[in-house]
Amino acid sequence: MTKVDLTLPPGLTLPLMSEMIMPLSNAAMRDIETLVHPYTNLALHRETGPLVINRGEGVFVYDEHGKAYLEGMAGLWCAALGYGNEELAEVAARQIRTLSFTHLFGGKSHDPAIELAEKLKEIAPSPMSKVFFTCSGSEANDTQVKLIWYMNNALGRPQKKKIISRIKGYHGVTIASASLTGLPNNHIDFDLPIPGILHTGTPHHYRNAVPGESEVDFATRLADELEALILKEGPETIAAFIAEPIMGAGGVIIPPTTYFEKIQEVLHRHDVVLIADEVICGFGRTGKMWGSQTFDMQPNALSCAKALTSAYFPLGAVMIDERMYDALVSESRKIGTFGHGFTYSGHPVGSAMALKTIEIYQRERIVEKVAAKAPQFQKRLKALADHPLVGETRGIGLIGALEMVADKTSKRSFEAKKMVGAACIKHCEKEGLILRNLPNDAIGICPPLVISEAEIDLLFDRLTTALDKTEADVSAQNLRAA
Ligand code: PMP
Repeated sequence: MTKVDLTLPPGLTLPLMSEMIMPLSNAAMRDIETLVHPYTNLALHRETGPLVINRGEGVFVYDEHGKAYLEGMAGLWCAALGYGNEELAEVAARQIRTLSFTHLFGGKSHDPAIELAEKLKEIAPSPMSKVFFTCSGSEANDTQVKLIWYMNNALGRPQKKKIISRIKGYHGVTIASASLTGLPNNHIDFDLPIPGILHTGTPHHYRNAVPGESEVDFATRLADELEALILKEGPETIAAFIAEPIMGAGGVIIPPTTYFEKIQEVLHRHDVVLIADEVICGFGRTGKMWGSQTFDMQPNALSCAKALTSAYFPLGAVMIDERMYDALVSESRKIGTFGHGFTYSGHPVGSAMALKTIEIYQRERIVEKVAAKAPQFQKRLKALADHPLVGETRGIGLIGALEMVADKTSKRSFEAKKMVGAACIKHCEKEGLILRNLPNDAIGICPPLVISEAEIDLLFDRLTTALDKTEADVSAQNLRAA
């Protein structure tokens, strides 16, 4: 077997973090010997070890030593109702006692899945015909790709198979989903993307607009670029366009005004299906039930997961419109079955929990409350734009990010190897705040939707302190030097 080098890659130093490495606990040492961590620098992890979180309540989680952290990322953009919700615990226990498992294969069914599909159709942002359940966002988007291919075979246009997504879009990590994802780390050395997946431009005005270009002009240019790509490839080969209303993991990128309006005009002209990836935006994050409603998108198909159960159970859903469903029916009639499905598609425990979660969102008027809290959240975020490290702040509803730069005027980023974003996250942790480091030293903020006004203030107070400490490190170690 080839021996793998476990030391840090050359040039990767820890200028800011070296003093922050804590002695490793027993759990941390066992972790290092046993786990492969998703989205982690596995070499660095062997030296720094994990942050071991063992308990959660409200918007706080507690590490193995009992220290409290405000969970400013709702876990991974998902724990919308926070931690320790008794109603969800009870509904899970009840469903496990009633029927812990049954499935939807071969025409079998059960009440929770039927009721959840009805509920999702009722609240969908555009007319949806049917719902297919998965266990994750990645599986939902993989399913979308397969359904589109299947549909266009059914419709007798086997060349119309290519799918366009966007650079910096995030759609998951399974082979098709990772191909849709437009981030280098999901492709490099995984031999991705697969053929037939194309990427168009990122709607990030701060980074990608040309000097003096208005948001409206920038949006026009992006739509023109999309159309040029479709025409170059041949519209008869382009099946679908997939987009998150707000790009999440790519850096919380809010599209410029008129963007989706213009993009949808292009898609309509060339009979290209719009798939909305609502895995982060769905269920209130943007201040409306769906990001599609915030940005006037009328998707033909939609993926959701995460807040569907407030992350109390791994569950995703694909919704499709009538035309897509009819095509699946005719194709399965021809073949003899619809040959797709996961063991846990429509798991009864997850379905019952999702139903309860949506009931809570509606009963507690969670979405209206997000809209009411958003101005305070966005005001505190925007105020950080004055900080010497911050090039841009951006956000909507209860989601946002700030992007740190070496030079505010030229927008020059720090060199990646200086790991300024990672250092800021460590300072946040010291202050009792969990946030996430996104591409380009952007710090993502996406707290549970149930966060209170006082907790929003606490979040931004702690973030401000962490930024000040990061700035002190940057100055002391002259990390702005190009
Ligand atoms: N789509 C989007 C927009 C996401 O943010 C994510 C996860 N962050 C996914 C898809 C993939 O979901 P999962 O991790 O559940 O596979």
